[in-house]
Amino acid sequence: MAGGAGMKPLAAHFATAPRLLDLRGEFPALPEGWAYLDAAATAQKPRPVIEAITNAYARDYATVHRGVYARSAHMTEAYEAAREAAARFLNGRVDETIFVRGATEAINLVANSWGDANIGAGDRILLTQLEHHANIVPWRMLADRTGAEIDVAPLTPDGRIDEAALIALITPATKLVAIAHVSNVLGSVADVARIADAAHAAGAKLLVDGCQAAPRLKVDVQALGADFYCFSAHKLYGPTGIGVLWVKKPILDAMPPWQGGGAMIDEVRFERVTYADAPQRFEAGTPHIAGAVGLHAAIRWVEDIGIEAIDAHERALTAIARAELARLNNLRLFGPEETAGILSFAVGDIHPHDVATILDEGGVAIRAGHHCAQPLMRWLGVPATARASFSAHSSEADVALLVKGIERTMRIFG
Ligand code: PMP
Repeated sequence: MAGGAGMKPLAAHFATAPRLLDLRGEFPALPEGWAYLDAAATAQKPRPVIEAITNAYARDYATVHRGVYARSAHMTEAYEAAREAAARFLNGRVDETIFVRGATEAINLVANSWGDANIGAGDRILLTQLEHHANIVPWRMLADRTGAEIDVAPLTPDGRIDEAALIALITPATKLVAIAHVSNVLGSVADVARIADAAHAAGAKLLVDGCQAAPRLKVDVQALGADFYCFSAHKLYGPTGIGVLWVKKPILDAMPPWQGGGAMIDEVRFERVTYADAPQRFEAGTPHIAGAVGLHAAIRWVEDIGIEAIDAHERALTAIARAELARLNNLRLFGPEETAGILSFAVGDIHPHDVATILDEGGVAIRAGHHCAQPLMRWLGVPATARASFSAHSSEADVALLVKGIERTMRIFG
């Protein structure tokens, strides 16, 4: 192992040391000695995903759903096989699984379709203090259109959704609870099933933003009790420009279309249009064909390794990083002890951008900023944080470089 000079060996951090994965060689865009610790923003791509996307364009390419020629029929099969894989990955049904541009589009789709049909003046939408802007702004826009109100569930002092306090905020007027499964800033994991039970008991629906959970946790939409679940492929080792929205069948069947165009219709006349069934009703236009193929390859890659193994790997590295950083004076760690692969911190009163710049000079890529979570920054009392996020390819050597870079930052800033 390539731990830093002062770093404890892995086994010293645990009663029983977890087995770390060794997958760096599968990622061609990771040069030797570069610690990519920004997977929460977007994941690097393993070779099978890159090959699948290349083949989709260089060997198999054609449109889907419309062509009668064999190439198009094969591409359609590949596109629909990706949908089946995505549905299975979430333990949902194929006809509940919609391809979207990403989590942002998924939530906008729900807000515009289900939201406009089901939310009115006086209704309440319950969010939490730690949401990503993608799970705030579409609801604020819906509330502004309809006269609905937004409630905000508080966090525990260590930065988890305070589930008891959230449940206490659910009223008969609450029509929707929308939460992040895993916080993109703090890595804290929500007890989704508990929140789902409380939401359903009050007649509310539950939307889960699974952007940071899908690459890290076993997701089972049935066990979680979600009504809507979404994630972006690019955080799950897949391509940008595609994501998945899963919606429980009876809810989806009643949802009106959002975007109109080709592929989502049954019959078109100037006077009247009838629409296709879901999921086609929600996929207007030519879809991201190669993206779906790439997502399928990413799901296969993750399933081959095992999401539980990736989760254990990232948790182990996060625990090591927390322990190593906790030894440094003047370093503030945000978030709970136990997190899924994501760690935010502050180095004294050095601006996180300066921390990230100096780390970059030492070959460490972290994110610095508000992470599209300004309300959470206000709650933390900082304008920004430095964030390291781990991935299946991360290693103790990456942690060692991170620690070394932070020590150097501290020396530079005295
Ligand atoms: N929610 C969370 C928790 C996220 O981390 C992100 C991406 N940073 C999003 C939503 C939005 O995802 P995308 O930009 O891929 O649509």
